[in-house]
Amino acid sequence: MNVLKGVGISGNIVFGKLKAFKKDFFSMNSEKIYTEDHESEIEKYKCARKLAMDQLDAVYKKVLSDIGEEHAAIFQIHRMMIEDIDYVNSVTNIITDENANAEYAVWLTSRNFEHAFENAEGDYMQQRASDIRDVSKRIVSCMSCFSENKKNEDKKKAMIIGSDDLMPSELLELNRNSVKGFITMLGSKNSHTSILARAMNITAVAGLGDQLRPEYEGCNVAIDSLAGIVYISPDKTTVRRLKKKKELCGQRQELLNSFKGKEDITLDGKEVSICANVSHVSDLAAVCECNARGIGLFRSEFVFMGRSDYPTEEEQFKIYKKVAKQMKGKPVIIRTVDVGTDKRIRYFDLPNEVNPAMGYRGIRICLDRPLIFKAQLRAILRASIFGNIKILFPMICSLDEILQIKQILNEVKEELDAKKIEYDGKLHIGIMIETPAAVFISDVLAKEVNFFSIGTNDLIQYSLAVDRQNDKINFMFNPHHKAILRMIKLVCDNAKKSGIIVGICGEVAADESMTETFLSLGVSELSVSAPFVLGIRKKVREINVSAVCGDIIRALSFDD
Ligand code: PEP
Ligand code: MG
Repeated sequence: MNVLKGVGISGNIVFGKLKAFKKDFFSMNSEKIYTEDHESEIEKYKCARKLAMDQLDAVYKKVLSDIGEEHAAIFQIHRMMIEDIDYVNSVTNIITDENANAEYAVWLTSRNFEHAFENAEGDYMQQRASDIRDVSKRIVSCMSCFSENKKNEDKKKAMIIGSDDLMPSELLELNRNSVKGFITMLGSKNSHTSILARAMNITAVAGLGDQLRPEYEGCNVAIDSLAGIVYISPDKTTVRRLKKKKELCGQRQELLNSFKGKEDITLDGKEVSICANVSHVSDLAAVCECNARGIGLFRSEFVFMGRSDYPTEEEQFKIYKKVAKQMKGKPVIIRTVDVGTDKRIRYFDLPNEVNPAMGYRGIRICLDRPLIFKAQLRAILRASIFGNIKILFPMICSLDEILQIKQILNEVKEELDAKKIEYDGKLHIGIMIETPAAVFISDVLAKEVNFFSIGTNDLIQYSLAVDRQNDKINFMFNPHHKAILRMIKLVCDNAKKSGIIVGICGEVAADESMTETFLSLGVSELSVSAPFVLGIRKKVREINVSAVCGDIIRALSFDD
């Protein structure tokens, strides 16, 4: 048995067999895995080939419209290479004749073709060698255990994914029937992948570094995410102990279930709105199950993920309408698309930046690409008549940004008016307070919007200069830091003066050790992943805010 120590991402214990995810990490090399299951390997290759072609079509279209035919042509050449019958035959023959896995077959085919091109006459042919390598890498990276077309029996096996890192979009594509958890070399508690894992209730441990070794592939694995520990080939005593621990977790969950349907109210009668953070329509069942007060944060960028091109206005409208209807009049706060940093989407064609968290992301992209922004706003406005929708704008740093947003929103409303398309004329708008700049001008910003939602994940990152994705400095990501608490208080005080409410939708909203503090500072809404709603409700009902708030506010000074 090997014991690996990392960072627990979401709280549970699972068992399964370890399967490699990133082919670059485990097997984009000459390693041949013997298999007689030719049918599944060929199927895996075919799915990856199709996905790679779709990706190339999307890139071709985008480059053609943005830059021109001259630069786009290469992607057509890549597509032709993928379609090339000699290439296809070579891959399938290697799988069947050599009893090889699909990744190896692509790798060997690529190497043979590269040699042929390198030895051909003329620069043009020689340059094609690197193209064939590119194309082959693309196919291999499209090949992974998330393939929907995998054989049925695979779906029944409990699988733990092992990877160097996992992007949010990759997590979404995992097959939820079989994947019970994941473990990664990189990653931290506050990355978007971790946030998503918590919302999806997927058990995970990140930040394992070199402890996670390729030779563990295929081993039985137990993940104890509560302790941040991974057991490779756990012995019988460990399995027994973990099963007992899992049973105790189940008992706590049963206790929490008794809080379903109860009010979100403190001992001294202060009403708190406990809402849920969601990324997908599929999260709604869990939200309704725990009767959250509403959706405090719908991360709409996930509507844009897992596709090869922008969703149309109509596609978006249908999704937002469905969410609004399903929530039956409860508030649904839709945040406009917040891509960038670790939420990269290929067709957005974002630049590589040295410091992407401080770069081209969120509202900056929307204001720079008004067509995309307007399409989303139109879709949200049209959906607003089917429920109680509010719009939230991320990454605000200045008053000017809000004024620009409001102007664009008004233009969209006028366009809808001209076409006699209905929308909620009283729809509320709010902003994320997740930059120090927004905190310190919150008195001015409060006059422009209907609510604030504090994004502590980014606010802490930007204020304490702690990269939320960096597991080496995870211990410095401190929501109890007085600088952070003072900022929250300032925001609440300024909001109160303008009569607007303040919620917190960052991950610390689910930290029960902070609930008393947040309520004492003036926060009245906490939005957490659905699995945490009942725990926070239980906590809120045990707090007497008026009895503790004086001490909590006094402690913000350094006098004690
Ligand atoms: C935050 O920054 O706290 C937040 C909720 O936004 P995201 O995690 O999506 O950046
Ligand atoms: Mg944020």
